[in-house]
Amino acid sequence: MNTVLDTVVIGGGAMGSAAAWALARRGRQVTLVEQFGPGHTIGASHGTTRNLNPGYHQPEYVAMLAEGLSLWDELEQESGEQLLARTGVVNHGPEPRFADVAAALAQAGIRAEFIHPAEAAERWRGIRFDQKVLHLPDGGQLNPDAALPAMQRLAVVRGADIRHHTRVVDFQVMDDGVRLALESAAGTDVVTAAQVVVTAGGWTEKLLGGAFNSRGLRIPRLRVTQEQPAHFRVADPGAQWPGFNHYPGTGAEYKGWYSPVYGMQTPGEGIKAGWHGVGPVVDPDRRSFQPEPVQLAALQEYARTWLPGVDADSFEAVSCTYTTTPDEDFILDRIGPVVIGAGFSGHGFKFTPVIGRILADLATGTRDAPEIFRAGR
Ligand SMILES: Cc1cc2nc3c(=O)[nH]c(=O)nc-3n(C[C@H](O)[C@H](O)[C@H](O)COP(=O)(O)OP(=O)(O)OC[C@H]3O[C@@H](n4cnc5c(N)ncnc54)[C@H](O)[C@@H]3O)c2cc1C
Repeated sequence: MNTVLDTVVIGGGAMGSAAAWALARRGRQVTLVEQFGPGHTIGASHGTTRNLNPGYHQPEYVAMLAEGLSLWDELEQESGEQLLARTGVVNHGPEPRFADVAAALAQAGIRAEFIHPAEAAERWRGIRFDQKVLHLPDGGQLNPDAALPAMQRLAVVRGADIRHHTRVVDFQVMDDGVRLALESAAGTDVVTAAQVVVTAGGWTEKLLGGAFNSRGLRIPRLRVTQEQPAHFRVADPGAQWPGFNHYPGTGAEYKGWYSPVYGMQTPGEGIKAGWHGVGPVVDPDRRSFQPEPVQLAALQEYARTWLPGVDADSFEAVSCTYTTTPDEDFILDRIGPVVIGAGFSGHGFKFTPVIGRILADLATGTRDAPEIFRAGR
């Protein structure tokens, strides 16, 4: 028997959970399906820390930051959970765009101040600062392991149906909607959804590929990489830690770097530090979950040189996926009955509730997403 559903959200990571919450708040009948169990660590949205780094200058992202700060507040109030630790974020290094960032944020009412590296070193002695330091006091750390269940719980309170251990194994775009085959322990169930919201992270191309190619539909290529930050043991218990991002210059001191470095304190686990978007390209269903040793050694060298507050020889590696478009901008668009939210790389989490709002707008025909996120760009 073919069940007919209103809106099916595919993927219970950050973006699917946010879309379900936003749609349920608008009284839509939502069914969220997730192939793995609650709290799984196989995608991109696990762990207890993500930086809310306000370091953007592009108007679309700055507008989303401002909206995001108030939506995170709303989610904290509605769920009764603290989701954002307001530790501030410091971005440092010879980065020419810091002035544009400071100007764009000031216009949006988000705080930004340049401070002298010596003053920064006094305030945050676990970090060795480099040339220019841009302090963003409204930044901090978000907690995915608390945020995802909170959004799903609030969606259920408003009538959403959340199904874990349910995998979409077939996806056909029809004239009257989308036909989905849902595989779970109970067997395979075929349903028709008036529309679907695809928030399948690293599996997006696998899910959409066949259905879209057969209809000549295109989305930007998505590169899935296995990223490997690490939690380093705190060596200086008295040091205060903001979130941090360190941008390299061209000098000899940046030799051996793979990319800018991001980091933060994860309570109970240490100081997280990682390269950005340079992990090996992987098939999300065939991952090693093992760190690439050369990059890891370079990360330890980074910690030895620039993070005096940690023990660079005592660490736990983390494994997680980035899904990245060629221009690193997200895909937020609607193609027929299919709404797509993909390509959030390593900078999507801070925007989660806003992405949910945009996907709900697309699903309800309320408003289009900003041009830079269009699938056909
Ligand atoms: C190491 C690391 C550090 C990061 N740091 C930051 C940071 O500091 N700040 C920041 O803003 N962002 C950060 N990010 C980025 C952020 O975490 C991601 O952009 C975000 O979590 C992506 O969420 P998602 O919902 O798109 O993907 P996912 O969480 O991967 O969700 C996709 C879900 O879809 C499910 N799925 C896929 N196919 C199917 C199917 N066929 N049927 C059913 N379910 C399916 C998957 O199981 C998965 O649960 C980081 C990411 C990583 C990996």
